[in-house]
Amino acid sequence: MQILIATRNRHKLGEIRAILDTPGIEWLDLSGFPDAPPVVEDLPTFEGNAVKKAAETAAFTGLWTLADDSGLEVAALGGAPGVLSARYAGEPCSDAANNRKLLAALDGGADRTARFRCVVALAHPRGDCRWVEGRCDGRIVDTPRGAGGFGYDPLFVPDGFDRTYAELDPAVKNAISHRARALQCASADLLPWVLARR
Ligand code: IMP
Repeated sequence: MQILIATRNRHKLGEIRAILDTPGIEWLDLSGFPDAPPVVEDLPTFEGNAVKKAAETAAFTGLWTLADDSGLEVAALGGAPGVLSARYAGEPCSDAANNRKLLAALDGGADRTARFRCVVALAHPRGDCRWVEGRCDGRIVDTPRGAGGFGYDPLFVPDGFDRTYAELDPAVKNAISHRARALQCASADLLPWVLARR
């Protein structure tokens, strides 16, 4: 059977295909659907946006569709930037501006607790949808460190490590990240559900 991945991000496509590689499933991407309208991610929760993206794309294409939404939640900021992670410092989106704004908002504060969250949703074209979540707990450092990755990677040290996501070997990050954990849950919980329904 075929499942469409509702992202145009090549990095995510590779990671999703690698972790969800399963006999009997052919993974498609949006390059085959140039007319698919972009989905506006305007809901207040990760699960809301992931489900909306998966369901709207499934309804448009008529295919089972997988979508994800993720971001960083900082405890001392009441969970910000959260669903606004990509555009925390406004548009056009800039990782450097987002990181500067986050450090300024924390202003040397003692509580640096943070977590990345990722929700992966899988939707049937006629409306059925399920989702799973992966998290990675950690803390925010005082100054950016490391050249790898993207987004808030230079500011985030996962629990059990002393290096930021941006300093870690990408293979290590991709084994412990919020996205990897969500995809592992999707592999264990969502794919058997889909395969049983075909
Ligand atoms: P998306 O929903 O995966 O596109 O992520 C939204 C935003 O959350 C990104 O633009 C980043 O700012 C942030 N983000 C999500 N995952 C990561 C990550 O693995 N490292 C750093 N930032 C991330």
